[in-house]
Amino acid sequence: MKGEILSVGTELLMGELADTNGSWVAARLPALGIQLQYVTIVGDNLDMLADAFSRGLQRSDIIFTTGGLGPTQDDLTREGVAKAVGETPVVQQEVVRDLERYFQGRGTAMPATNIKQAYLIPSARFIPNPNGTAPGWWTQRNGKIIVNMPGPPGEMHPMFEDQVAPKLREIVKDEVTITRNIKTIGLGEGAVDETVSEFFGKENPYLGIYAKQDGVHLRIIARAKDAAAAQKLIQPVEQAIVSRLAPYVWGYDEETPEQAVGQALVQRGLTLATMESVSGGYLVNSITEVPDCASFFKGGVVAVDDGLKIANGVPAEVIQKHGAVSQQAATAMAQAIRRTLGADFGIGVVGMVGSRSDGGRQVGLAYLAIAAQGQVKEMELRIPPRRAVMKRRLANTALIELKRMINAL
Ligand code: ATP
Repeated sequence: MKGEILSVGTELLMGELADTNGSWVAARLPALGIQLQYVTIVGDNLDMLADAFSRGLQRSDIIFTTGGLGPTQDDLTREGVAKAVGETPVVQQEVVRDLERYFQGRGTAMPATNIKQAYLIPSARFIPNPNGTAPGWWTQRNGKIIVNMPGPPGEMHPMFEDQVAPKLREIVKDEVTITRNIKTIGLGEGAVDETVSEFFGKENPYLGIYAKQDGVHLRIIARAKDAAAAQKLIQPVEQAIVSRLAPYVWGYDEETPEQAVGQALVQRGLTLATMESVSGGYLVNSITEVPDCASFFKGGVVAVDDGLKIANGVPAEVIQKHGAVSQQAATAMAQAIRRTLGADFGIGVVGMVGSRSDGGRQVGLAYLAIAAQGQVKEMELRIPPRRAVMKRRLANTALIELKRMINAL
């Protein structure tokens, strides 16, 4: 089944809003057996919307839209569908009553403009929206389908997952596409490529390689008549890749470095503490994104000033002798914070960022240390000296290296 997405809204055309709805829906279509052909952004303009729907109906089997279902005059998605298929919207009284109840529940009367949200054309059915006032539309006509969903992600995501996707699973009998993402760190793209070279160049399963901020990712994509059959195609390739790259694999699919570390620490009942300078709290921020992080994370100090490092247990003579941006300083920070907070692991991160270079050392130079009982892992890194890149890269590398250290326990 061939599909396309229309993301509706002038805000999107003006570049004021990024089309995250489009990519969110796109990511879910392969598993439903829908081949996405086009993603189009259309402004809040009736003729352009009608034109986009007419074009979409000619070249695709299904069109998904998000946005433009609100009550105001510039919410024109419903009108665009009606115009493209040549049907007239009629107000549905039972939906008017639902809307009135919704507003009563919030202590106000329904604004007259909301009546638009009770329109329906004969070929369409409402898709209920338990999280807002705008119901979606499911229009089926001449073998083609149009699915209109609201713009706010908090309304659109549950509508898609709970109502649209189950219906599509019943209807679409084509192939499904399943992907498996294997995330590695520690080997360059060329070395990873060489290690698994025999799996490249095949159509099904297809293997792709991508260099990312958190290492080199290998993505296996398989197509088959159902999910179980696609999984069977993926499994032997995944097994072979993982066995060859085992020391370098740190996670799968959507897993983030902080989730991988959190899970590994919780499984073993271990704890972590951090002290960072150049990463400016990015490391603490990443770790505290993990739900229930308090069960493995004791805390972190963002010690930019040397006095704060010393106050937290770093020996002053280490900084005097080697400088604040040195392997010795990073190691002393990792050991000090581990000791101070009584954690199993301590991470220390220092580096040079900005326009200044200190004592001949260049910006982009960073040192990382992970201290554990009786051992320290040390690393020197050279990173493009842009603040955002350095912070992200250092935090990711520290966490992934910690994950590898825990794996090796
Ligand atoms: P509402 O009833 O809230 O007006 P709507 O269906 O009319 O819903 P829009 O008015 O087009 O939707 O958008 C409402 C909000 O939804 C936008 O301000 C934005 O926050 C979010 N949104 C809309 N489209 C997108 C998109 N393509 N990607 C990400 N967010 C979006």
